[in-house]
Amino acid sequence: MVRAIRVYRTGGPEVLKYEEMELPGPGRGEIRVQHKAIGVNYIDTYFRSGLYPAPTTPFTIGNEAAGLVTEVGKGVTGFRVGDRVAYVAGLRSYAEEANVSVEAAVKLPKAISFETAAAMMLKGMTAEYLVRRIYKVRKGDTILVHAAAGGVGLILCQWGKALGATVIGTVGSAEKAALAKRHGARHTILYREEDFVKRVGEITRGKKCQVVYDGVGKATFPGSLDCLAPLGSFVSFGSASGPIEAFNIGILAQKGSLVATRPTLNTFMAQPGGTVSMARQLFKVVENGSVKIKVTRHFPLREAVAAHQALEGRETTGSIILVP
Ligand code: NDP
Repeated sequence: MVRAIRVYRTGGPEVLKYEEMELPGPGRGEIRVQHKAIGVNYIDTYFRSGLYPAPTTPFTIGNEAAGLVTEVGKGVTGFRVGDRVAYVAGLRSYAEEANVSVEAAVKLPKAISFETAAAMMLKGMTAEYLVRRIYKVRKGDTILVHAAAGGVGLILCQWGKALGATVIGTVGSAEKAALAKRHGARHTILYREEDFVKRVGEITRGKKCQVVYDGVGKATFPGSLDCLAPLGSFVSFGSASGPIEAFNIGILAQKGSLVATRPTLNTFMAQPGGTVSMARQLFKVVENGSVKIKVTRHFPLREAVAAHQALEGRETTGSIILVP
């Protein structure tokens, strides 16, 4: 038996139940991981609330963790008992242990602690494909990052700067603005008080941005499109304020032949060698110091309710983790 956070019916944070559950041994091609630190991600709230449907009920919530391999299933090569690993895989990680396909796991370099790994794998591989794959950030670009002081946001700001871009970050408070500035944002905009479209126009002297990375969704649409230079890319990767409603694609022509995309990490992980290659790039920028991973709060696993309340209440910055 292992202790885990399970969901029987979708809803607010209070539907997260801490209980014991059976966990069978690892299946073919799987490893069993004893968790040392568990990442908390905004996507966890979408499964909990029902915005993203879970395939079964009840289900264990959570999509990433780091820990030690305690058992290997049949057919597993490349992983051994005692290996330090991290993984990103759906609906299993808010638990003391989980089984995970080797395709979703990576071995951790010595320099990366369990805590750092749990705080960065999902968010950092997302940042990797955002700045290096879906739109390749180039020296001299001006990029807009919404929720710049959040988990993905702080990584995006630093990585964007490391690639030579001028980063503009929107944030919910003055404290968050200061944090984003310490992590690569040249300019910040308090988008709860200021008109961010107008401010982007002022900051860029009318030139606007080559790309907008938008994990906020409803509240920043369609304003984000007005922050783009002609031929710019609107990358919608999340819905912290709610999903964007259907819109007429003709708007992209009117606003300057824009590109709009709605990518997800799963697609990039499913490419041959995708997970390993994204992880390698992430380890590189963390090990060379251009991206620092900020863990701002730790919650015991049993207090997952409080972790979700803080995340959805816009109280958190950087990454937060659960400790089993
Ligand atoms: P964050 O740490 O960024 O937390 C969300 C932040 O969104 C808040 O701190 C808040 O910052 C901002 N926000 C704006 N409006 C609201 C609102 N109405 N309610 C709550 N928060 C709001 O979370 P993550 O780093 O885990 O994720 C960031 C985004 O990236 C999410 O949308 C997530 O779904 C997405 N994501 C997408 C992936 C993909 O591949 N497509 C993979 C990983 C994450 P502030 O107060 O500054 O506005």
